[in-house]
Amino acid sequence: MTSKAHMLRIIFSLNFLLWVFCPTASSAWGFQGHRIVGSIADQLLNPRAKLQVATILGFELRIAGPWADCVKSVVRNDDGTFEYKENPNHPEYEIPCTSFRTSGEQKRMEDYVGRNWTQCVYPPTGQERGCHNTYHFDDIAIERDRFDRGFLGTSEHDLVAAVSAAISVLKDRPATAPFSIADKKEALFMLSHFLGDLHQPLHVAAVYLDTHGHLVDPDAVHRIDPSTDTVGGNNIRDQHTPFHTEWDAIPDDLGEAATPALLSAARSTPPSGGVVEDWPALWASDTVAVAHYAFEGANFKFVSPQHWTVAFDDRNAYLAAQDSIKRRQLAKAGARLAELLNAIWP
Ligand SMILES: [Zn+2]
Repeated sequence: MTSKAHMLRIIFSLNFLLWVFCPTASSAWGFQGHRIVGSIADQLLNPRAKLQVATILGFELRIAGPWADCVKSVVRNDDGTFEYKENPNHPEYEIPCTSFRTSGEQKRMEDYVGRNWTQCVYPPTGQERGCHNTYHFDDIAIERDRFDRGFLGTSEHDLVAAVSAAISVLKDRPATAPFSIADKKEALFMLSHFLGDLHQPLHVAAVYLDTHGHLVDPDAVHRIDPSTDTVGGNNIRDQHTPFHTEWDAIPDDLGEAATPALLSAARSTPPSGGVVEDWPALWASDTVAVAHYAFEGANFKFVSPQHWTVAFDDRNAYLAAQDSIKRRQLAKAGARLAELLNAIWP
């Protein structure tokens, strides 16, 4: 083996170990995607909503978008205190977080994590890593055709509930349990991020797989068998990349702000209709429908307990479809973030 091949092999092994022990290190859309969603919304806010965001939040939505991932750097010390600690293995995590490293903002991140740490057990491992981490996703089985609180893979502390709780606070009502939201600024930080997550198909819908790589339907047997849980696609690999991470990555040409094409797509997103309180579930249902396309043509193979690979009938066609779904979903997320804030501050 050449030394280069040897080095590549070591790097691959390290990545594999990281994947095994840190399966949920990824975050929806990466910070670039969250910035794009915020950037679209910044440009679609009405003057009153824009003023409210500037006054209450003090950041553009584009800057605020990654906040809920930045708080993942807050750790619980042995003495029970919470502290923001840079991850020495991942200096890149800091890139979108520099705006929040003033003493006041850092205190807010530590405080938010402390207040939202213990209300639930992080599924599916049961290990303690903070309830606030569950606010970023649902895992509704792909066999379903919509979001419904009665389906498995949802919870009182899931993504839809987090969006609803933040809306409550912006409408001068208390946050629904188990959420602790200090004020409207925190609610805006949450919404600027979670609207993005809500439009990433693998943050809302999931496949559950058996040891043959076949779909199993948890709702049919009224329980999630942990051995079938793909953890939102984190336990499925497409070649060397976790399938979830592949979906988080945005098309390279998009950069970190709204493009004219995305803005135009956002402007043509149909209005949601009905009342604001129903929107989180309505939008999640829309994403479940989109997820059916995200899994179309995907075939799964069992590798080892709780690890699968994915292959496609036509890989190039799949990647092309994935690219256009991502663009549509980013545009919709930005449009709906603005729609929501414009409805709260008409
Ligand atoms: Zn997230």
